This record gives sequence, C-alpha cells and structure tokens, in this order.
Amino acid sequence: MTSTLIEQKSEQGSVQNIVILGSTGSVGQNTLDVLALHPDRYRVHALTANSSVELLLQQCIKFQPKIAVLRDEVAAEKLSYELKKRQLPVQVESGGAALENVASNETVDVVMAAIVGAAGLLPTLAAVKAGKRVLLANKETLVMSGHLFMSLVRENNARLLPIDSEHNAIFQCMPMSGVNEEQWPKARPAEALAKRGVRRILLTASGGPFLNTPLEQLADVTPDQACAHPNWDMGRKISVDSATMMNKGLEVIEACWLFDSSPDQVEVVIHPQSVIHSMVDYHDGSVLAQLGNPDMRTPIAYGLAWPERIASGVSPLDIFSAKRLDFAKPDVKRFPCLALAYQAMKVGGMATCTLNAANEVAVDAFLNEKIKFTDIPLVIEKVLSDITVEAATSFDLILQNDQLARQQADEIVAGLVSGYAGASK
Ligand code: NAD
Ligand code: MG
Repeated sequence: MTSTLIEQKSEQGSVQNIVILGSTGSVGQNTLDVLALHPDRYRVHALTANSSVELLLQQCIKFQPKIAVLRDEVAAEKLSYELKKRQLPVQVESGGAALENVASNETVDVVMAAIVGAAGLLPTLAAVKAGKRVLLANKETLVMSGHLFMSLVRENNARLLPIDSEHNAIFQCMPMSGVNEEQWPKARPAEALAKRGVRRILLTASGGPFLNTPLEQLADVTPDQACAHPNWDMGRKISVDSATMMNKGLEVIEACWLFDSSPDQVEVVIHPQSVIHSMVDYHDGSVLAQLGNPDMRTPIAYGLAWPERIASGVSPLDIFSAKRLDFAKPDVKRFPCLALAYQAMKVGGMATCTLNAANEVAVDAFLNEKIKFTDIPLVIEKVLSDITVEAATSFDLILQNDQLARQQADEIVAGLVSGYAGASK
C-alpha cells in the first residue's frame, strides 16, 4: 500500500485496535516494539499477562491501553493501585473470562495470541469466534485442537496469520499468499497441498543448544543451559522445547493444520544458522525459502500488516556475513521428542493434546529441577501409552483430556522424584 493509502486509512478512522494476549512475554514485547513504530496504524486496546505487575505497568504507561488484564486477581489489584496512583485511566480486570472478553470485544480488529501453553486456548478461541484477525504465536492451541480450531476459523471468517517464524516463512512461500486477501484462509482448505503444486514443506530447525553435546552428558544439563538458545531469545518453556526439539515436533503438527498437509509432507531440516526460516518444495523442482535475521519482529510485522509490508525494526540481513548455510537430518536418538510428536500426529484424535499436556508438565518439572532433561521424553511417552486416544469432537472433551494427561504426567513425575530421593539417601 502506498503512503497515500495509509494516510487515507487513518483519515477514515480505520486505525486498527489491537489486543495482545501475553504482552509481557517474549513475543508480546516484540509485538509492542513493532507497534511503537506505527502509531498511525495501530492502537493498543488491551494488554494482558499472567501475574507480572511491574512490566505490565510499564507497558500501560507507555501504550495507554483501555484495558489491562491479569489472570491473577491479587496481581490485578496491585496493578490497579499503581495505575490509580499515577492517575492513568486504564481499566483493570482479572481472570480467564476477562481474557476472553477483551479478545472478542467488538471494537477490536486484531488479536495477538502470545500466551504460552494450553492457557492460551480459550482466549484465542474467543478471538476466532468473534471473527478477528488472529496472529497466532500460541502453537499449543493448534496442537491441542487443530481440527476444531481450523473449522471455527472458517465458520467465523476469522483471519489466521501464523507468527511462528517457520510457519510465517512457509506462508510467505506458499502459492496463494499475498495475492489476494480473500484467498487466506478461506480458499486454502478446498485444495490439498499436492494440488497446489507443493511436494513438501521443509521446516527448518536450529537444533538448539545441545545439537553437538555428547549424548551421555544430556542427563546432567541444567535449565539455564537448556534455555541458552544459540540464535533466538525466547520464553523459558519454548526454549526447553527447542532444546528437546519438541518445539519442532509441535511445529510439524502446527504446519499440518495450517497448511492442510500430512505429517509425511513436512520434513524437518536442521539448519544451525537460522537464516532460512523454512522452505516450500514444489513439483516443478523449485524450492522457495524465506531468509532473514532470526528476530520475531519480522513475522510479527508481516502478520500485522499482511498483505502489505511494514517496517519491523529488524536490521537487514547481511548475506555476505552468512558465510555458509548447513543442512542436516535430525537424529531421533538425540531428539526422541520429535519422533513422539510425529507419532502423535499420525495417531490423530486427542493424541496431540495428550502430547502437549504431558510435555508442559514435564518441561515445568525440569525447569523446577525436579526431573532430568532426559526424563522429559520418558514422561511424555509413558503418558501417551497410558491414555486411550479418543476423537477430538468438542472443546470440552479436549480440555478434559488435557486435565487427564496432566494428572497422569504429574504422577509419573512424582514417581521419578521419589525415585531420585530414594537413590540419594
Ligand atoms: P513467554 O513465557 O515469554 O510469555 C508468555 C506470556 O503469556 C506472558 O505474557 C505471560 O504473562 C502470559 N501467560 C503465561 N501463563 C499464562 C496464563 N496461565 N494465563 C494468562 N497469561 C499467561 O512466552 P513466549 O516465548 O513469548 O511464547 C509465547 C507463545 O508464542 C508460545 O506458545 C510459544 O510457543 C510461541 N512462540 C514463541 C516464540 C518466541 O520467539 N518466543 C517464537 C515462536 C512461537
Ligand atoms: Mg518456531
């Protein structure tokens, strides 16, 4: 769009109202950085977080949203007190229903879904049901409920833009993207991937911090080592997921739902430099890739402005400094979580919901130093084998399955913890 058109937009009062679910997280903060560059295009309607009062307060001072929501009630009271002290007219709310309300508020145009984990499901769903433009970072939502979620996107004419950098890259390399606003996502499901000339999706992965760590040392790695990602600065849960490569497993599932593909059509490629963010391989022999510095502000800016492009604040890629680009197949002995994710997607039904819940519990236990890094896949595998796979026919069933898998995972973690306590006596 030319600058004249952008001005017209603003003159007509069509500045976009945006809600950021999870504004204090890594994706949330990056989103605010991009928005700060475009006050003429976007207005922050609501910011939300779990319990981080201080950071949300600073964000409220800078972006002056109408509403701030904290899931935690006590934290919300503190925020309200601090805002009143500064005479800032921000309405403060708390709880899960308040998150859903801001995500579906009729004055809102765009919702950035950047809560981490299953906690993001219901607020993201509320945005979809209200037909918003939904920028989806919260991949766990699709892993839990892909089929139903995508159906609701279509039924409600919501516009789903992938923010996960790989999926954003794939979206940019797909045949219809950027051609006509009506083609995404409404036209997409009518045709399978192959009909659109695509042979496969090449999903790139950095390999995380333990790509070359001797296998026998993995049992002793610490949470801080697991969170020290070589290329990306992210929240702690997704950082551990990157270290186990469960993140890539979740992304395979995410790609299947977003691009209507089967797990066999999604191939994971280890690319340690993280310059190529993913590729699409076509039947005519073409492979299209999206390149850039590893910085989430690029996919965020793309999702915000699509089908236009706006500045993101990311420095241009210095192609000459990227001396080499390496590619390798992942080693499933090193990364058993990746194989578990493929397996769950192939089983279908609520197996991926179970996978996600067990992973969240295991990662949390590892971050709290209750279990070892190498216990994470063991917990997930056990939960997957313990829980009978049912069809994912309603969100209620999905949430029940999520709870059941968490209870099961908690028990397995407790067993491991008591085993370690016994061994150290
Ligand atoms: P983070 O841990 O940095 O931030 C999470 C945000 O969610 C915070 O604002 C937190 O307050 C909020 N939150 C956490 N639990 C909540 C709850 N129970 N209720 C309400 N809010 C809650 O996480 P992140 O790294 O920003 O990742 C967010 C999502 O984006 C994840 O699903 C992740 O997989 C995905 N993602 C992240 C990146 C990245 O670069 N960080 C890249 C791709 C995808
Ligand atoms: Mg990613």
